[in-house]
Amino acid sequence: MKAVAIDGPAGAGKSTISRITAKKLGFIYVDTGALYRTVGYAMDSKNVSVQDTQGVKNALKDINIELKFIDNEQRVFLNGEDVSDKIRTPKVSMLASDFSALSPVREFLFDLQRDIAKKQNVIMDGRDIGTLVLPNADIKIFLTATPEDRAKRRYNEFVEKGVPVEFDKLLEEIKQRDYNDSHRAVAPLKQADDALLVDTTGNTLEESINLLFDIISKRLGL
Ligand code: C5P
Repeated sequence: MKAVAIDGPAGAGKSTISRITAKKLGFIYVDTGALYRTVGYAMDSKNVSVQDTQGVKNALKDINIELKFIDNEQRVFLNGEDVSDKIRTPKVSMLASDFSALSPVREFLFDLQRDIAKKQNVIMDGRDIGTLVLPNADIKIFLTATPEDRAKRRYNEFVEKGVPVEFDKLLEEIKQRDYNDSHRAVAPLKQADDALLVDTTGNTLEESINLLFDIISKRLGL
């Protein structure tokens, strides 16, 4: 099995670039952020706070998360319900970032991520894929861009969907998540020693996709 690990901060273009590149290569694209978002969403629905470690552990026992690939598109199910769309809000982004700092949550999701990569060729994106989940990945990429560039992309995505958002708020949220994700004690966001750093600041989406596709296909000998 072949595995490509793509890590980096929020809004660097990981998901869009990974999805399109995976399609071109015939790989499955696994968005691990969706798993953490689903946990954040589930905890919020159960009114469990991030400070309540025991409450979180208990709640995890009642949570069943499944990833299904329908027409090669990932859908995430929480106790049988497809929550793929519900988890894409700024509120759930922050909840995901908060709950993902807890080791019981990370342990809970660890095997699920690994098992997928055992059965299929994958491009998996997240924060700790190259460092912890798939340390033996065939290629590791750390994808980044300036916070302003990343906030601009997120802003455009929301505007395209007709969702009203404020640019300054998005920028603030991105900076806050960067800080949380890279300063937490467990599985902090950091570039793996053997990862290739790709900075997409100023690139169009098409330029970034072409760049990544070239790097990956060359490295895989395709
Ligand atoms: O990638 P996305 O923005 O959807 O991720 C939401 C949050 O989930 C991140 O801010 C991060 O805190 C967490 N996450 C993580 N490890 C991953 C993927 C996401 O901690 N592998």
